[in-house]
Amino acid sequence: MPGAQVVPGGGGGKTEKYVDNKRKDDIRMANIAAGKAVADAVRTSLGPRGMDKMLSTANGDVIITNDGATILNKMEVLQPAAKMLVELSKSQDIVAGDGTTTVVVIAGALLRQCQILLGMGVHPTVISDALHKASEKAVEVLTAMAVPVELSDRESLVKSASTSLNSKVVSQYSSLLAPLAVDAVLNVIDPARPNSVDLRDVKVLKKLGGTVDDTEMIKGLVFDHKASHTAGGPTRVENAKIGLIQFQVSPPKTDIEQNVIVSDYTQMDRILKEERNYILGMIKKIKATGCNVLLVQKSILRDAVTDLSLHYLAKAKILVVRDVEREDIEFISKTLNCLPIANIEHFRAEKLGQADLVEEIHVGSGSVSSKCMLSSNVVRSFVILHGTSYTRMNSLYSALHRVRRLTSALVQIVKATGIKNMGRTTTILVKGSNALVLDEAERSLHDALCVVRCLVNKRFLIAGGGAPEIEVSRQLGAWAKTLHGMESYCVRAFAEALEVSGVPIVGMLLTVVPYTLAENAGLNPISIVTELRNRHANGEVNTGINIRKGQITNILEENVVQPLLVSTSAISLATECVRMILKIDDIVSTR
Ligand code: ADP
Ligand code: MG
Repeated sequence: MPGAQVVPGGGGGKTEKYVDNKRKDDIRMANIAAGKAVADAVRTSLGPRGMDKMLSTANGDVIITNDGATILNKMEVLQPAAKMLVELSKSQDIVAGDGTTTVVVIAGALLRQCQILLGMGVHPTVISDALHKASEKAVEVLTAMAVPVELSDRESLVKSASTSLNSKVVSQYSSLLAPLAVDAVLNVIDPARPNSVDLRDVKVLKKLGGTVDDTEMIKGLVFDHKASHTAGGPTRVENAKIGLIQFQVSPPKTDIEQNVIVSDYTQMDRILKEERNYILGMIKKIKATGCNVLLVQKSILRDAVTDLSLHYLAKAKILVVRDVEREDIEFISKTLNCLPIANIEHFRAEKLGQADLVEEIHVGSGSVSSKCMLSSNVVRSFVILHGTSYTRMNSLYSALHRVRRLTSALVQIVKATGIKNMGRTTTILVKGSNALVLDEAERSLHDALCVVRCLVNKRFLIAGGGAPEIEVSRQLGAWAKTLHGMESYCVRAFAEALEVSGVPIVGMLLTVVPYTLAENAGLNPISIVTELRNRHANGEVNTGINIRKGQITNILEENVVQPLLVSTSAISLATECVRMILKIDDIVSTR
């Protein structure tokens, strides 16, 4: 067989080149397949009738969620291209905060179309360029469809927040959580910069106990642990002057690996006395400024407060909240309008914040906690008395101790109200009857907050329920035809390229959103999408499917609206990601 022989020179080169390309094609196809697999994994979670996922982590924790970003983030993904889809969802989470499932579903559909085109022999670069053009056009179409919204139009904001909550596990609470999210975001808008919102100014605290119905917005500041009770310190202070300190109220330590050996008792007494004087000196300085509430940052160097200093602070009638996290300092100082103090020498009255009342309050019941405390004390005395099988007892003790810590932390909170010159921050206290619901409520609230933030950044709304996607698909189809008819040869060549590769495909594939929404709701996706296409062809731009009612209607009238930014960023990020995957032709492992 002469044809099969590898001839050195021209013919052989051709054969080799062919093999080389095959490998590249294989890698591209493998990447696409991996990406599609990831998209398929979250597809069923799209929309109000989408399914939830139960994620189980290596250390036995369970998470129930419907949020695309969370599902993908927790998934163990190894294939590099599949990881890009995980990153894609993350970027959507950062840019828009909602639409994290949508973006991956769109990317999956794009990949499927690319696979078909590549199979037909279209060059990846051609597809990639066409995709880019088409996505820009799609964003244009969406922008043209959008209706402007004012921030004073609270109702519209609430509607869009509840659309995003509709598809969550906690959807039955959307009538409570949506207005809460809107108020929280509107509250933190800085009049000097009306177009941006920093969501770090909205603090979401979780508390076990009650139901999600008990979730509330708090005017003031809340610490999710109790005040120090050592030596009977105060737990309620009126006309509070609050100091936020980042230094330690404890005697200084020697440097690492240095010892001071004290041999006689008089010396020892002197050291103790010095320590006491040192602490007393500090507390006098603190008290002199009129400070009566002290917030102490957690320290890693040495104990931020010791029993001795707590004792003296209690004597000085100063309420102490210890273990304030480093990352909360900024929020606290902004809320209380006070300055964090890094050194006792700088402790001055003008740095303090003021509030009408700071008090420790109980949320939920404390019975579990006290029982655990009792039992852990019993176990400890048992261990001390008998000394035997210490390890087993010890583990029991530490388990009980942990339960006690957990529950007691859940029972009391410290609340500051009536803050003078309070900064623009908001605290939302989310309640839930179990940790799974609580966590999901927090995640869903985050989505709702992000939706409102999107509307502050870009004040446009569009319809949900697949309406914009169908419209984009229709208009892109029409656009492709006009491109086809252009005179110039170059443009026509490009238009042809678009027609084969990009536009009609983007047009087709955007129907993936309504298709999947219908499919997840148990409706017939093909007939729904066909019906939608017909209606849109007749000029009913806002016709979509109302999943809750299972019918095709004007979706704007059904109050299913979402921010423009969510849809546009989903389309542009998804195309960006797919173009990147298309352009990869090799995977190289590095050390
Ligand atoms: P994502 O994580 O992408 O936000 P969701 O599960 O929240 O995914 O689903 C969002 C999609 O569901 C959007 O396309 C939105 O338009 C649609 N949607 C939400 N509520 C409804 C509804 N009541 N009827 C129809 N579609 C809805
Ligand atoms: Mg959503």
